[in-house]
Amino acid sequence: MDWDKLQKILEELGEPAYRLQQIKLAIYRDLKDGFNFIDNIPQGLRESLAKLIPFNELTLKTERKAADGAIKRLFLTADGLAIESVLIKHEDGRRTVCVSTEAGCQINCSFCATGHLGFKRVLTQYEIFEQVLSFARYLKSQGERVTNVVFMGMGEPFLNYDNVKKAILLLNDKDGFNLGQRHISVSTSGIVPGIETFTKETWQVNLAISLHAPTNDLRSKIMPINKTYPLAQLMPVLDDYVLKTNRKLMIEYLLLGGLNDSPKQAETLVELIGKYKNISRLSMVNLIVYNATKDNYGHWDTFKTPDANTLKIFEDILSKNKINWTRRVSFGRDISGACGQLAGRNLSD
Ligand code: SAH
Ligand code: SF4
Repeated sequence: MDWDKLQKILEELGEPAYRLQQIKLAIYRDLKDGFNFIDNIPQGLRESLAKLIPFNELTLKTERKAADGAIKRLFLTADGLAIESVLIKHEDGRRTVCVSTEAGCQINCSFCATGHLGFKRVLTQYEIFEQVLSFARYLKSQGERVTNVVFMGMGEPFLNYDNVKKAILLLNDKDGFNLGQRHISVSTSGIVPGIETFTKETWQVNLAISLHAPTNDLRSKIMPINKTYPLAQLMPVLDDYVLKTNRKLMIEYLLLGGLNDSPKQAETLVELIGKYKNISRLSMVNLIVYNATKDNYGHWDTFKTPDANTLKIFEDILSKNKINWTRRVSFGRDISGACGQLAGRNLSD
């Protein structure tokens, strides 16, 4: 729901100021799904509001469940744009929602299904937040709750900084959804001014950088944003982020078979990290195995998934050089539910 609009309507109806707070608690904290269920306000007001303002900004269009429990939901915005979100059920009990911040993406990384889609527009704070609410309501019906939110769906969060920030504040609101800041992570392709602004925030939200290549040549090839913000600009700003926040930086490295997964490239990655004191001290390399995606015409794209042996050699080089690393378990492969595979273009893919 658009809260600015709701506030205006309540004023016009001559309602007392505390109504807004009552409604907020009902929807954001108690996860009521419809004006009908907001039983702490008068029946007449519920009926009036139902006529005056849409309860949700997003409409759930379809849902697909993966064998591993991941659920992908496709929503439509009021102006008819398709966006996707995923709920990931981790074995340790975490329930993570991966949200989209834009319909499409301007960055157009060569391996990313969202990028291939082109850019439509940024999402509002409410459109971002409602993706989480939608899964929170579902989980509540199962006796569970959302424990983590990652901004790793469609779009580049730092090209929609203000709305992403507002959505984070909505998630974190003590009198509302009340999700801890440490349970929220934002991933960027490397928008330097965005990282600088993020560093100045007085919060404990986590930052992830999609690095994916240890040299400018290769990075520019697969991530055009590297031409605007090359490694020599990006890395010092990330180092400064770790220095000033003392928070662990997640370095995402998407392994593309035969392209960025050689032993030499693992060593170059070690060297790159080694040049930056703070990143060396407090970071984690998150290895992601490439998920093949289809292009807009339904063809499988040109990248390959790395083989197990190559992967092991890459990981051993990192370990030998005392680089902290993990392998991200990819959920929802059978529903194209991996972050970065959210394309919203085809309900049957
Ligand atoms: N735009 C931001 C956040 C969204 S993408 C960013 O790029 O960081 C979230 C992550 O999914 C990124 O690390 C991205 O590189 C990765 N990703 C994209 N396409 C993928 C694919 N086909 N398989 C696996 N991960 C992919
Ligand atoms: Fe955009 Fe991220 Fe996909 Fe690149 S990987 S096109 S930045 S969503």
